[in-house]
Amino acid sequence: MNSNTESGRDAEIPPHEEGTLLDWKWQLRNSIKNPDKVKEKLNLNDVELNQMKDVVKRYPFRVTPYYLSLVKADDRNDPIFLQSMPAKEENQLYFDVQEDPLGEEHDTVLPGLIHRYPDRVLLTLTNICPVYCRHCTRKRNWKNGEWIRTSKEMDDIYSYIRSDKRIRDVIISGGDPFILCTSKLENILKNIRHVPHVEIIRIGTRCPVVLPQRIDDELVSMLKKYRPIWLNTHFNHPREITLQSRGACDKLICAGIPVNNQSVLLKGINDNVDTMTELCQKLLAIGVRPYYLFQCDPVSGTGHFRTSIFMGLDIIKGMRGFTSGLAVPTFVVDGLEGQGKVPLQPPDYMLSLDYNHAVLKGYKGDVFRYYNPGSGMPAPIQDESNKIK
Ligand SMILES: *Cc1c(COP(=O)(O)O)cnc(C)c1O
Repeated sequence: MNSNTESGRDAEIPPHEEGTLLDWKWQLRNSIKNPDKVKEKLNLNDVELNQMKDVVKRYPFRVTPYYLSLVKADDRNDPIFLQSMPAKEENQLYFDVQEDPLGEEHDTVLPGLIHRYPDRVLLTLTNICPVYCRHCTRKRNWKNGEWIRTSKEMDDIYSYIRSDKRIRDVIISGGDPFILCTSKLENILKNIRHVPHVEIIRIGTRCPVVLPQRIDDELVSMLKKYRPIWLNTHFNHPREITLQSRGACDKLICAGIPVNNQSVLLKGINDNVDTMTELCQKLLAIGVRPYYLFQCDPVSGTGHFRTSIFMGLDIIKGMRGFTSGLAVPTFVVDGLEGQGKVPLQPPDYMLSLDYNHAVLKGYKGDVFRYYNPGSGMPAPIQDESNKIK
């Protein structure tokens, strides 16, 4: 196997041979945790290197050789660089940030189990990820070393899920659940699947993007046994769509596991209509449905990534009608202190609504009247266009 980590990007999707850079365990064993190790590849100067080392004391660093291979060495605005390399701004203070703004700790009913909405729970299996995204919303979990839930903690979680019959949707998140080996993961899925009132299992993983080698035949044939499984991944930029990531998504989809995407709106990475449109169209082209576009949460150490809420609304406005409806994600703000996700729509489309009619604006900007049925009033007889000049 040659050591050119760029290889494969423009070639056929290669097989996942063991002990090579196409093997996920090799990728994890060889992931880079020390900024010194990227100095040469990225042409970092001493000031940049020292700033990174300083940040890493507080917020650890980890990147797979694969994801690192996508970085353009001399471009400090490269979207892959910005998402994975420690930045001095992470130590900057922003007045409105908190460690846990969404109140996840408050909604934690057991170690590893967040029960916020009545019918679904979110399970954090581990705090380990193949790549530590610099914009992570759970940066508070990066402290105190790396951990995986113990079997005692897991048993308590299964008991809780069994005892609350309202729970019909279990979201396995993290960290990245695919950090666990396939047999451990199978044991967890089997236990959850055994609960009669659990209808669906969701898995939140960034492996298709940062460690696509993880989606191998062994994993996929195991997952297939526990369907319906819905997988949510996390592409943020069109450059992350490579032959490998496409291959990973394709394996999942062919096994009957729908893949949806949750992006985060990130300053300098995807905060414009063109980039987001390109990303979402390319996702559809590889069979992945854009699900959410998140406003970047006000989490300590991520302030430099946040954009105005206007930006998210403008992006949705610039996409709706101009491209496939399937490509348009729902823009959401995750409410503070457990308020839950709040969908935000550009206010432009509905100018007014009463029992008789709505006044609506189409994507091209034309305003028109639309009869509102069910009011008891007869539909107005129209002699000309409903268009309002
Ligand atoms: C996002 C989230 C969910 C799932 O929300 P959906 O809108 O159903 O995707 C469930 N629990 C918690 C705590 C969450 O943050």
